[in-house]
Amino acid sequence: MGEGELPGPTRGRARYAPANWQLWSRARPVVVFVLIVEAVTLVTAASTVTVVPVTRTHWLWFVLLVVASVACLEAAKGMERMREDTVEGTPYVNLLSVWMFAGVLLLPPPLLCALVTLGYLHSWVRVYRFEAPAHRKVFTAASVMLGCLAAYWVLHSVYSGVAETFAAALDGPAGLLAVVAAAVVYRAVNYGLVVAVILATNLDRPVRTALGPATDQLMLAGAVGLGCGVAVVMTARPWWTPLLIVTVLALHTGLLMPQFRDASRNDAKTGLLDAMFWAKLVTDELARARRMDCTVGVLLLDLDHFKRVNDGYGHLAGDMVLRAVADAIKRTVRGRDRVGRYGGEEFAIVLPGLGVDDVRQAAERVRATVAELSVTVFDFDGEEKDVTGLTASVGAAVYPVHGGDRTSLLLAADAALYGAKTAGRDCTRVSGEHSGKMPATRRPPGIQLVPRQADGGR
Ligand code: GH3
Ligand code: MG
Ligand code: MG
Repeated sequence: MGEGELPGPTRGRARYAPANWQLWSRARPVVVFVLIVEAVTLVTAASTVTVVPVTRTHWLWFVLLVVASVACLEAAKGMERMREDTVEGTPYVNLLSVWMFAGVLLLPPPLLCALVTLGYLHSWVRVYRFEAPAHRKVFTAASVMLGCLAAYWVLHSVYSGVAETFAAALDGPAGLLAVVAAAVVYRAVNYGLVVAVILATNLDRPVRTALGPATDQLMLAGAVGLGCGVAVVMTARPWWTPLLIVTVLALHTGLLMPQFRDASRNDAKTGLLDAMFWAKLVTDELARARRMDCTVGVLLLDLDHFKRVNDGYGHLAGDMVLRAVADAIKRTVRGRDRVGRYGGEEFAIVLPGLGVDDVRQAAERVRATVAELSVTVFDFDGEEKDVTGLTASVGAAVYPVHGGDRTSLLLAADAALYGAKTAGRDCTRVSGEHSGKMPATRRPPGIQLVPRQADGGR
């Protein structure tokens, strides 16, 4: 077995094979419940194939709704990923419901089911990038599909004429009531099923956590309302459809983006994540890695002799160098690796899914990027100077090889960083490749480490 491989966990594509789903490790009642819901969804979807004939117009609306849902998610996927990072263990609301509920009002059941399937498949591939457990996404899609079919059934029982869509047929106060009832049923089925499974899987968590924030219900109500608008516009003024797609897109990204940018709490000087938020992300990534049976790499990088930059060119120049290093690190790592400012001239990077060898390579790439930097700064006299020859020392550690929780992982990476400093700086050390103790020569004079006494000493 290579150094970077873990014993046991299922890797690569095999992880997604149903036989390897983590679902099977859940409590038996949860597994049975999930399978029953999925089976009922399949049977219900299959039984609706012949309810109404599928026309060319239906196909046109279907294609438009698929394009709209794909386009909106593509535009907002960075933010959705960030939101998804912060909602672990609660139902996760996204704006796919706009298009799904428009589908309820416009499409016959088979195309409605296809729309839900494609929407959730796309979100799994593009937002979650295959990182979320497949069985969860299948269950979410099943609960949304059942919700859509239940809403369709509500509308169908109010109006079973031959009109091509409910959006065109339902009018007047009765129509309004029917649509509201359908929306309530849609949400109740989807939300009820998801909350039930979250509660059953996390028996030790408070019920309120499983319910998620109340504002999510507002967001969902807004999404369903917009879906009604989309459906009516698509039937009455088809050429206005792009207008609504752009509206949803603009509201989604324009309103929510700043909120999530703030929530991520960036460090003002470097624009990187601040240390606290970065640490929270590490906790989230470790929780995910535990569920998914995969690895998480952590790098701690400390600029070598950075004090010399300050002493030689001034603190303003030092700040400009810190900013340039931060940008360079971000450019060097993958999109889903998260970079934080750990301390003054110390940076921290979490690299989900990477094993020991990959983490070492990533560390070396980052180090090489820093070494190649040429940063234009203003020195004490206000003259432009280029700072070159920067070097960095990097310590690396990998979950679960070097630590099973955040503290032990960061301690391992920190010890490895000190190993790199002791080895002469400008190098990378992976945890375990050194003694792990801070050499006496690096201990600050006068400060002593005294073993803690169990009871006495107070
Ligand atoms: P070593 O190779 O041992 O890491 O040496 P070093 O000089 O990089 O480390 P040391 O810990 O002695 O000094 C860190 C320096 O980083 C000292 C401090 O002035 C500087 N520093 C920390 N935060 C900032 C900052 O926000 N701006 C600037 N300009 N300098 C900073
Ligand atoms: Mg330092
Ligand atoms: Mg330093």
